[in-house]
Amino acid sequence: MGERVLVTGGAGYIGSHACKALKRAGFEPVTFDNLNTGWAEAVKFGPFVQGDLMDRAAIDAALAEWKPVAVMHFAALSLVGESMKDPAKYWRVNVNGGLNLIEATVAAGIRNFVFSSTCATFGDQDGVVLNEDTPQKPINAYGASKKAIEDILFNFRDAFGLNHVIFRYFNVAGADPEGEVGEQHEPETHLIPILLDAIDGKRPALTVFGTDYPTPDGTCIRDYVHVMDLVEAHVLGLRWLLEGKGSRVFNLGTGKGFSVREVIDQARLVTNREVPVVFGDRRPGDATALVSGSARAVEDLGWMPERSTMPQMIRDAWGWTRQPRFTE
Ligand code: UDP
Repeated sequence: MGERVLVTGGAGYIGSHACKALKRAGFEPVTFDNLNTGWAEAVKFGPFVQGDLMDRAAIDAALAEWKPVAVMHFAALSLVGESMKDPAKYWRVNVNGGLNLIEATVAAGIRNFVFSSTCATFGDQDGVVLNEDTPQKPINAYGASKKAIEDILFNFRDAFGLNHVIFRYFNVAGADPEGEVGEQHEPETHLIPILLDAIDGKRPALTVFGTDYPTPDGTCIRDYVHVMDLVEAHVLGLRWLLEGKGSRVFNLGTGKGFSVREVIDQARLVTNREVPVVFGDRRPGDATALVSGSARAVEDLGWMPERSTMPQMIRDAWGWTRQPRFTE
């Protein structure tokens, strides 16, 4: 067995794909997840500890039992809309939970930490391409809670030598092309799975949130990255840490933006089916355009996001949409 990595949120969408990538790269992923939004059936690539990040003793016990060389922290609440309505929940779960984990990691003598952050830490910056040095001004509690963990990690690096790789994701899409894991949220709020469910008749229609944004076609622009490419960057980031290269922040996107209407058009082409669409109001908390400056991960880590074309992401998500879902 390879070196172990504790993966919080390993039962979730991105975490489960990360476990698959870690295993393939020769590591043993140990999932730590409370199954609040994750699926036991998605834990397929290594041991499973059911536990909650609010429970410091449970984290300490997992670290003592499994002795990982690094921690990868995915577990978090991640719904922008919910975070606008219930900010305390986001500060409590994401920040208190993350701080518990970071303190436990240091106490266990581990010095390598990979953190799942977000472009939502940047806020709404009027169409500028966002690179790692762009100032962060979150406009919702979700983004603010993620930025707080970034800040904590910088403090812990300085105080205790805890090395971190922070990945700020843009919009993650697609699924494992082998169909072992995929995207399944309850409730689902993300554009591509909702759109594909609408095509597949599992819901009546996709509601487009806002057509009056200051973009060429009036809908929001996002930078989409394939989940398999995204998790591959995590393996590279882990190696970066294990090679002693120190702390680093990386944005993960492709540098190319797609509007909601463009995504709908592509889905029509890939599936060869009509997309049932209705047009609605803006969703509170949504930024107009979020596009990544994507050079650093490519240059420093040798990251090659080859699957992150819109047709490939839709094709892989479509394959997953039409197979049996996780039930527990
Ligand atoms: N969106 C939409 N209808 C939906 C879900 C999403 O129009 O049912 C839009 C949303 O306003 C945003 C884009 O699709 O502009 C991507 O949203 P998603 O929730 O997938 O990711 P986010 O950018 O919020 O992280």
